[in-house]
Amino acid sequence: MKIAIVGAGLTGSLLACFLARRGLTVTLYEHRPDPRIGPAERGRSINLAISERGLDALRRIDLVDQVMADALPMKGRMIHPVEGPLDFQQYSAAGDRAINSISRGTLNNALLTAASEAPGVTVEFEHRLVELDSQAGRMVFATPSGKVSAEADVVLGADGAGSAVREQLLAEGIVAEDVDFLDYGYKELSIPAADGEFALDPGALHIWPRGTSMMIALPNPDRSFTCTLFWPAGSFDALISAPEIEQHFAQHYPDLVPLAPDLVDDYLNNPVGVLGTVHTLPWQAHGRTALLGDAAHAIVPFYGQGANCAFEDVVELDRCLGDTGGSWARALPLFEARRRENTEAIAEMALANFVEMRDKVASPVFRLTKRIEHA
Ligand code: FAD
Repeated sequence: MKIAIVGAGLTGSLLACFLARRGLTVTLYEHRPDPRIGPAERGRSINLAISERGLDALRRIDLVDQVMADALPMKGRMIHPVEGPLDFQQYSAAGDRAINSISRGTLNNALLTAASEAPGVTVEFEHRLVELDSQAGRMVFATPSGKVSAEADVVLGADGAGSAVREQLLAEGIVAEDVDFLDYGYKELSIPAADGEFALDPGALHIWPRGTSMMIALPNPDRSFTCTLFWPAGSFDALISAPEIEQHFAQHYPDLVPLAPDLVDDYLNNPVGVLGTVHTLPWQAHGRTALLGDAAHAIVPFYGQGANCAFEDVVELDRCLGDTGGSWARALPLFEARRRENTEAIAEMALANFVEMRDKVASPVFRLTKRIEHA
């Protein structure tokens, strides 16, 4: 049985590891060159908050210790008002629970290496899916040396929010999609280590709530922080010169300015990313082609759960294969039936958490309620 996975991001690489353990022959097709060679992409979500949901999947393939070795546990939120003292809000009453700041690149590379070392797995880089016949399992990829055809018994689309597999299923009239773009964009900035030390407390996820917009910062193992601005989409273009940028940050994010020497350069050169929620129905066709991870149900990042949720998909698909004796025709619809309600719930919660993070966390009533809950 030949399995093709399109996309060797977090979902596809993890999935290859799970399927290899079932003794299946897997080819992972990835659009990009091998990310383990060459520099990381600039300004593309450098770190991720991975919680217990994601760690559970990594534990099952014995990768959790390796990934956690570089993780930075964040036990609460640190709120940065425009003026006045910082406010630390613990995630759990006893302070014993944390989410973990993990480098996206390190995690992806660890999963890719585990996948490529697994028996039966082949990875083809610089293969971009451009055509798919979902019933016959026929695929065409654009590669540096021209178009290449391939066939598989099962085709799994793990190719992210802008999924080409989903696009092909849409063109075949098999799925319907609804993409709700948020009227907000994101841009990354950096806070380097100061004299070799973290410039902010590394045990917290830092938030600068500013009503209709916000900035967050997560720590990195090299003692820097990656900040992400979430602003109304058009507002990034309103600041075009260095004095305008400096003035804006001095007014709205005054404690950031002395910590971010590359602020103007980052602001002018880092891209603005789009944010949205993807709804797809159904996630599978003919019992042999399916979508999972962001390709099926991308969400906005405010709960830090997109990758965690994608990892849960992989665990559940593997469980469905176990429960159906390895029958893909039965496992794929079962997977969708078991996962859909959960992914819709997290999509809604992620949107709701944006309002909490950018606005409510700064309210005295919210802070008092949290203290009472934790007392
Ligand atoms: P992707 O990571 O998008 O990977 C898809 C892969 O498919 C890529 O390697 C791509 O090159 C490849 N590909 C695309 N098209 C093709 C093609 N045609 N042919 C072949 N290959 C193709 N999640 C969390 O859990 N915690 C967080 O803290 C968090 N923070 C986030 C912050 C931001 C700003 C954003 C935007 C997202 C965040 N997420 C977070 C969500 C998380 O990044 C995604 O849920 C996760 O990356 C989904 O993984 P994926 O493998 O499904 O898709």
